[in-house]
Amino acid sequence: MTDINRNQHSPGCIFSGIGASPGIAIGRAFLLDRAKLKPRREKIASDQVEAEIERFRAAVASARKELEEIKNRTLQDNGREGSIQKHNYIFDVHLLMMEDKMLIDDTITLIKEKKINAEWALNLNSEKIIDFFRQMQDSYLRERQSDVTHVSEQILRHLTKSDFDSIDKITRGVIIVAHDLSPADTLQLDPGKVKAFVTDLGGRTSHTAIVARSLEIPAVVGTENATEKINGGDRLIVDGIEGRILVNPSREQLTAYIEKRQQYNTFQAQLILNRDLPAETTDGFRISLAGNIETPEETESVVSHGAVNIGLYRTEFLFLNRQSLPSEEEHYLTYRKVVESLPPESMTTIRTFDLGSDKIADAGGLHEDSINPALGLRGIRLCLNRREIFVTQLRGIFRASPYGKLKILLPMISGLAELRQALEVIEETREELRREGVDFDPEVPVGVMIEVPSAAVISDHLAREVDFFSIGTNDLIQYTLALDRSNEHVSYLYEPLHPAILRLLNQVISNARVADVPVSICGEMAGEPLYTLVLLGLGLDKLSMNAISIPHIKQIIRQSTFVEARQMLEECLKMKTATEIEAFITREMNRRFPDTFLMKI
Ligand code: PEP
Ligand code: MG
Repeated sequence: MTDINRNQHSPGCIFSGIGASPGIAIGRAFLLDRAKLKPRREKIASDQVEAEIERFRAAVASARKELEEIKNRTLQDNGREGSIQKHNYIFDVHLLMMEDKMLIDDTITLIKEKKINAEWALNLNSEKIIDFFRQMQDSYLRERQSDVTHVSEQILRHLTKSDFDSIDKITRGVIIVAHDLSPADTLQLDPGKVKAFVTDLGGRTSHTAIVARSLEIPAVVGTENATEKINGGDRLIVDGIEGRILVNPSREQLTAYIEKRQQYNTFQAQLILNRDLPAETTDGFRISLAGNIETPEETESVVSHGAVNIGLYRTEFLFLNRQSLPSEEEHYLTYRKVVESLPPESMTTIRTFDLGSDKIADAGGLHEDSINPALGLRGIRLCLNRREIFVTQLRGIFRASPYGKLKILLPMISGLAELRQALEVIEETREELRREGVDFDPEVPVGVMIEVPSAAVISDHLAREVDFFSIGTNDLIQYTLALDRSNEHVSYLYEPLHPAILRLLNQVISNARVADVPVSICGEMAGEPLYTLVLLGLGLDKLSMNAISIPHIKQIIRQSTFVEARQMLEECLKMKTATEIEAFITREMNRRFPDTFLMKI
């Protein structure tokens, strides 16, 4: 963590980024130096060498302890699966590596000789070892590269853990300015202490932005260089609606933003008055609005914002910021808590864990070293690859089913074969529970996320084998338009109204209709007021979104007709470019709903 004065800029300087979570915050900058992507590289003084070696040894010891715990637990969990041998072997290889002279002693030598910090030394040394294995003739030995990468990563995580603690040390209302915050970091932020955050990296629908909205913390991401422009202690205004940051504002700027904050808060307070009214158009078309959650605590906010159903529970967040994987009992108790905290008629859609890409668990050695993680072992691919963890979760979900209505949602399905494999695991889990005499609801509906373009294209086939569809526009847009949703440099390409996206949505929804399968959208697009009428025109059954978006979306629906929504969609479907469609929609929505905050997601 650094709090240094290094930048010169004129008072009141304004710069912009991507408005990721709405609201206006005024406070002091707290610079959080979290260069998590690269290990910190620092020269150290001679008298720091011993302490650095000690820090390294402690990180190795805790990484070893963690691995041993995982090994024991996995062996217990897998006893019935007969896959003990393989896991035993991998764990033992990794444990041995943590004692290996080449990896451990040579890193210590580098710390001593080069007088560099442990992260840097470990990085240099593991690269050397990886190179060594890479040149092996024997394919088995060549593959050991990935074990070295994995073990060094584990140790590195334990080394950088001190950075994590620094988030906890925030004691007053500050605005965090950081190079990057992972979704796991963001989840740790206490809204009572953090007024807002600003990051150099990040995109509109990154999970960091999504968590900020859930926590109702205003945020601006993708500024590219906020950490260079802002000094620790600077007074900031963060406008998460427009994606603007004002550094050391003038008195006039401050007064204007205090007024804007007041207007925004009044606007939100008025919207909430609709809370108990249905999301129904003036010509009688009713759509269900539901909430997206990442943690059980968020159900309260969904209900207070006027929804009773959870349309997407991102359970992978249960796996973050911890050193061991959740047990079956923990899954069960967590899901039971969620369903019991909702009214009895509520339905909770539990998505099986969608780890990978930007959601990285520290425990379980789940993640590969990939230069393209969004296209790697993510979602259902990881579930099927680590079946024992998938089954543990499924058992927890089924055991929670007698306590409230729930559905199972499978993420990142790309084709029928993959779906059938997942359904087979679900059926086997049901069988196992039956054999054990466990009480559960065997009729729990199973649906798929439509978020991979191949799934959208074959949605007619998928619809015949599942109970419902939930369209994940965040990923559907990312993969269809070939842009990284977390990358600020390509955020200009993130166009939810791209004709390709509208066509895909239209196609998926009609395929669902033909098969009589309920269909919803649970991507961020569902909570964006600008798109409400277009989505309404598509004839969806449900829109699921961040709690804070529910009142505004409801108001727009209640002030519109289905007929006009349909006409608007038809106009859009005739147009050929996203720019044309966006201009049309912006004009129409501003005409219909002047003076509202049509914030872009
Ligand atoms: C989506 O992809 O639209 C979605 C809802 O899932 P996530 O944002 O968690 O990837
Ligand atoms: Mg997704």
